[in-house]
Amino acid sequence: MIDFSYKALPWNIIFGVGALARLPAELDQLGCRRALVLTTPAQSGDGRKLVELLDGRAAGLFDQATMHVPVDTVRSAVAAAQRLNADCVVSVGGGSTTGLGKAMVLELGLPNIAVPTSYAGSEMTNIWGLTENKRKTTGRNDAVVPTLTLYDPALTLTMPADFAAASGMNAMAHAVANVAAPDANPIVSALALDAIGALARSLPVVVSDPDNMEARAQALYGACLAGAALGSGSTGLHHRLCHTLGGAFNTPHAETHAILLPHSVAAFAPEAARRIAQALGVASAAEGLYDLIRTLGRVTALKDLGVGPTDLDQVAALANPEPLSRERVRALLENAYQGRAPQPV
Ligand code: NAD
Repeated sequence: MIDFSYKALPWNIIFGVGALARLPAELDQLGCRRALVLTTPAQSGDGRKLVELLDGRAAGLFDQATMHVPVDTVRSAVAAAQRLNADCVVSVGGGSTTGLGKAMVLELGLPNIAVPTSYAGSEMTNIWGLTENKRKTTGRNDAVVPTLTLYDPALTLTMPADFAAASGMNAMAHAVANVAAPDANPIVSALALDAIGALARSLPVVVSDPDNMEARAQALYGACLAGAALGSGSTGLHHRLCHTLGGAFNTPHAETHAILLPHSVAAFAPEAARRIAQALGVASAAEGLYDLIRTLGRVTALKDLGVGPTDLDQVAALANPEPLSRERVRALLENAYQGRAPQPV
């Protein structure tokens, strides 16, 4: 019998090639006249172009967004917003920049417009994160869901193929985890399954033919739905293992997800694995994901990320292994460490 609960997040989305051109009119509708544009240093040029496009509606550009949302960066950005009398923030970039916008909203309570340029999917979640003294704190608060998210696939054309593949597999992990979550509900699973199909079809084309706008649009759509599944769903053992590895050994976020994902799926309940395989269009979900990662040219072994064999014991001990036993988690990590084809543990 179907039995579930579901609470929607307050999403407000515009999606389409060229959608960025609508931003000035959207700001007018929101009554915003002094936007503070946020970018990383690497995307400062995009920020300057946006300031121009806003034609007098921008109060300034803060181009110091950085990974893991350090508290000091948030303080500087909040001070800039106050000094410039900003009445909204517009973050243009990947998960790091979206994360800065979210952290600022928690302090300032201003409207928050997200213009995502990667597949992180943070703009669809109510999850915020902050780092202070090397410790990352995260939480959920619906106030950080952007007032408006404007997806323009044209902005993703500049994403290098390597980063697009890793970022895409990170999105895939959000979706896959939400088909298999113990408390998965049919609405979140439907979002997640459509995300899996869109990402599996588009990512190989994004890598082999980077200027293919249709593939870029499909991948961004997949990332949007994967973020929606993460935002309205939950995470389980797979995400806990990735965060433990990242926290303890500083392994790169997206690569860690990509390497572990086929092995996590090999340990999923058969019904969840069957639905994921169907969405991927393959016979075995774990093997299909492993093959996809190799098609995208990504590394498949944890040992290639600088993790040592004894580190695995520490990860297995640190992470809550539920619903598996510690021994099974250790075996799963060993398979990922060696870069073996996934197998049940
Ligand atoms: P990122 O935002 O750190 O971006 C990496 C680099 O790529 C940056 O220099 C960025 O400016 C650049 N970049 C982004 N898009 C580009 C484009 N189209 N063209 C050229 N350069 C581009 O990396 P990410 O993978 O997007 O985000 C990862 C971060 O997001 C992690 O810290 C993760 O924890 C967080 N995240 C948070 C949530 C959430 O719900 N809060 C969800 C997913 C990820």
